[in-house]
Amino acid sequence: MLPADPGVRRIARSLYESTRALPIVSPHGHCDPAALAGDTAFTSPATELVTKDHYLLRMLYSQGVPLEALGVPRRDGGPVVSDGRQIWRELATRYTLFRGTPSMLWLDHTLQEVFGVTERLSAKNADAVYDDISARLLQQDYRPRALFDRFGIAFLATTDGALDTLESHARLRQSGWAGRVVPTFRPDDVVDPDRPGFHAHIATLGELTGADTYRWAGYLDALRSRRAAFVAAGATASDHGHPSPATADLSRREAEDLFGRMVAGTGQPRDAELFRGQMLVEMAAMSMDDGLALQIHAGAWRDHNPTMAARFGPDQGADIPTTADYVGGLKPLLDRFGNEPRLTVIVYTLDETTYSRELAPLAGHYPALRLGPPWWFFDSPEGMRRFYRSVVETAGFANTVGFNDDSRSLLSVPARHDVARRLNAGYLADLVAEHRMEESDAAETAADLALNLACRAFRVDP
Ligand SMILES: [Zn+2]
Repeated sequence: MLPADPGVRRIARSLYESTRALPIVSPHGHCDPAALAGDTAFTSPATELVTKDHYLLRMLYSQGVPLEALGVPRRDGGPVVSDGRQIWRELATRYTLFRGTPSMLWLDHTLQEVFGVTERLSAKNADAVYDDISARLLQQDYRPRALFDRFGIAFLATTDGALDTLESHARLRQSGWAGRVVPTFRPDDVVDPDRPGFHAHIATLGELTGADTYRWAGYLDALRSRRAAFVAAGATASDHGHPSPATADLSRREAEDLFGRMVAGTGQPRDAELFRGQMLVEMAAMSMDDGLALQIHAGAWRDHNPTMAARFGPDQGADIPTTADYVGGLKPLLDRFGNEPRLTVIVYTLDETTYSRELAPLAGHYPALRLGPPWWFFDSPEGMRRFYRSVVETAGFANTVGFNDDSRSLLSVPARHDVARRLNAGYLADLVAEHRMEESDAAETAADLALNLACRAFRVDP
């Protein structure tokens, strides 16, 4: 992944070498805390490396492989393949589909660096590789905590719903293990009226906190109380997966009325969007008190394929990027809190066209705003390069927050970080070779991108 020109490659190699062994700080991702709490062996290469990976699922599906064949459970309990070897073969026989994609970079990296597999995965070696990985996963040194230590992970944040009891996180803390694994407060289920089960979730929120969540003040108290539980478990951030970055700052009376319509189910079509927007501002106000960084992942049209959603539920690779308006959408939030250096709002987008036009100028001005790394379709080498080229000249590196792996499996965390560190080295080496940056400054920036910016934005002590 380093630049082809030998002179630039020399610089890039030296920058990469200076960051490759730095600890991994992973402030946003979707690893399962239960795996680390129980420290039990991963069950199968297929479950861990195929069925959980929505990048693989979507590509295979697009080429005619039904998700049932990849082990994804159906909502109606209908039959799906459960034999890991058969699932693994589905991937191996079609592995060439991933040529030129980051999926192949990541999976090759994981197979080679974590499992010592040096041959490219294919139909021919599918069974041998499967047997090899399966055997290793049973060894003590392939247990989740051993891998966590071997990967050099200094900090790992999981993503947890507001109604999550954080039982796995409590077990982790009580176990006396030194690994730092913390939750992230993701309240979409209780702040987004369009989510299935919203009303039931409001009731559960009340039961969990003892607050009257059918009243606006009680509802906000309940959210405050859940945030406090997350902070007590080590959380340093909240995260909000909203369809758009719209925010709103209504008067108390208007907010109360809007909430009333949401719980009564009498809202107008645009009320849900307004309510989500209001809740982002309420969350920012709470962040001013409890210090959680506020992440907004906006611009995904979730579950674009209704057939898929009906059969398998959400998050199975059917999200599609859509257009987003950050300049207008974030204005109510920024009007109220944009000038607060104590608040950190981290914005991610699936609408790349907004980087140079909207997001870099906004983050390059408002003290409260930072740009999250390229996400989902764009955390690839080309996506990261486009990100730097679109934003750095306007917002600098200091208004970005380094890398997040957003990984769903612990096994792929090192691959993601290593690919990013190599890409960063190449991008910075170009600047050095063009005499736009000193090599010593580039080395400091490479360390910032690999580690320090994430620590600062997410308040992690490295
Ligand atoms: Zn994520």
